[in-house]
Amino acid sequence: MEQALRALVRRRAGEFCEYCRLPQAASRISRFHVEHIIARQHGGPTNAENLALACGFCNFHKGPNIAAIDPDSGRLVALFHPRRDEWTDHFEWHGTMIAGRTAIGRATARLLARNDWQRVEVRENLQGLGEPFAG
Ligand SMILES: [Zn+2]
Repeated sequence: MEQALRALVRRRAGEFCEYCRLPQAASRISRFHVEHIIARQHGGPTNAENLALACGFCNFHKGPNIAAIDPDSGRLVALFHPRRDEWTDHFEWHGTMIAGRTAIGRATARLLARNDWQRVEVRENLQGLGEPFAG
């Protein structure tokens, strides 16, 4: 992947994970990943429209998935798509927890383990330091 394309994705995301909104500044050990929203193995192209910035935790849990089960309805739904979907349409903050507002939001939040205790602890620590835990 070209360096210019990676730079575009980072700049466009404002250096925040496009899935959990964690700031890159909170993860000083590893750089966030430029990931394929629709994985290459599903035919997803390497272009600006199909790339997103993701923290290592979100990218690890997302893997090549493009859909997940909505825990409320049991239906299979597409995952949140950072280029086509608005974050605030599908998710909302409950303190330092992320809640899904829609089937897409609930399915994505569960698949990406957004409220895993380690992630909530990171947000709480940032909050305690007076630093933003979300963009
Ligand atoms: Zn993330």
